[in-house]
Amino acid sequence: MIERPAASPRLRRTSTTLADGRELIYFDDSEPYLSGAQIREVVDERPLDGRPMAGTMRLDALTGDWVSIADHRQNRTFLPPAGECPLCPSGGGTMPSEIPAHEYDVVVFENRFPSFASGAIAAGTGVAGTGVAGSAAAGLSGSSLLAHAPALGRCEVVCFTSDHGASFSSLSPERARTVVDVWADRTRELSALEAVEHVFPFENRGEEIGVTLHHPHGQIYAYPFVPARTAALLRAATAHHQRTGRLLGADLLAAEMDAGSRVVIRGTAWTAYVPYAASWPVEVHLVPNRDVPDLVALNDDERDELAEVYLDLLRRLDRYYEAPDGAPIALPYIAGWHQAPVRRGRDVSRLHLQVMSVLRAPGRLKYLAGSESGVGAWINDVAPEAVAARLREVG
Ligand SMILES: [Zn+2]
Repeated sequence: MIERPAASPRLRRTSTTLADGRELIYFDDSEPYLSGAQIREVVDERPLDGRPMAGTMRLDALTGDWVSIADHRQNRTFLPPAGECPLCPSGGGTMPSEIPAHEYDVVVFENRFPSFASGAIAAGTGVAGTGVAGSAAAGLSGSSLLAHAPALGRCEVVCFTSDHGASFSSLSPERARTVVDVWADRTRELSALEAVEHVFPFENRGEEIGVTLHHPHGQIYAYPFVPARTAALLRAATAHHQRTGRLLGADLLAAEMDAGSRVVIRGTAWTAYVPYAASWPVEVHLVPNRDVPDLVALNDDERDELAEVYLDLLRRLDRYYEAPDGAPIALPYIAGWHQAPVRRGRDVSRLHLQVMSVLRAPGRLKYLAGSESGVGAWINDVAPEAVAARLREVG
C-alpha cells in the first residue's frame, strides 16, 4: 500500500492492489482517512483470475483509424441487481465488490474488462507482439494492409461516490471538486506512461447511452494513439495557428461571447456555450477562460469554479426536458474531456468539455443512422440557439 501526500491538502491518496494485481487508488476527502487517523488497509481476498492483459488493435487501412478488438469484454457485467453492484463498497451485497473497503469517497481502479491494458499480450490473440511500448506504430506487425499492434494503454473506472443512487449532478460541490483533482491526477500519471499518446476522461450516463452499471461512475481511457476525432481537432487547431498565430479554442470562445446567443453560463474562469455547429440534439461545451492544454494545468481557483459550474450545467440538463406531468427527465448524456494529446500539438490545443445527448425529445432518441454512421455527415433537427435559450431558462 503506497500512501503519498496528495497534490492538495484537501485529499489523501492511497494506492493499493486488487487480488489480480490491478491498481486501486482511494482519494479520501473526509475523515477519518483525510487526516490519516485511519488508514486504508483492507485486503482484497477474492479468488480472481490473473490480471487482464493487453488485447489487439487493428489498423483500418481504409481510414487509417485504429480499432481495438476487445472480444473478452463480451463477458463483462451487464446491469447487475443493486445488491450485486461491483462499484458499491464491499459488504452490502452477497458478493464482494471491486472495492474491498466498506466505505469510500472517490475511488479509481483499473478496469477488469479493459479495451487497452498494460503488460504482456494475451495468449491466443495471434499477435506477433514485440512488447514494444511507445506509440502504436512502434508495435506494428502484420502486412501493410492487415496491420495490428498490441492494444497497450490503460482503462480506469472512477467511482464518484459510494452512494449507488446518486448521480454526478447530485454530488456536493466539495465532492465534485475532488473528482476534478482526480481527473487531473490520473491525466498526469497516465500521460507519463510510455505507451500512452492520449488521455480521455469521460462519463456515460443513462441506459440510452449503453451504460451497463447504474452506479455513478466515469471512465478514463489512455490510448496508445491519438484517436480520430482528437486528430481532427488537432488538424483544425494547427491550421488556425499557422494562419493566425492564435489558438483556435480561444478565438472561438471570443466569437461565441461576441455572438452571445448560444452562451449558457459565463463565469470568472469558465464559460459554457452551445456550439455554433452543434451535431447533437443537446450539446454544450464548457471551456476555461484561460488557455490551458489539459486538466493538469488548471489552478486551484479554476478547479474550484469548475466544480460549481459543472454541477450547475448538469442540473440544468436534468431540467431540460419535462414529462407530460411536468416532472423533469434526467438527461442521458456523454460528457468527455478533450485535452491536448500527450506528445503532439500541445502548443495549439485547448482544454474543453463536451456534453452531448441523443435525446431529441422526451422518449425520442436520435439514432446515428445512414448519414452520420455511413459518411459522418451530421444532421441536427434542433437549432443550437434554441437549446441555449432553454438551458438559460432552466438555470
Ligand atoms: Zn453501486
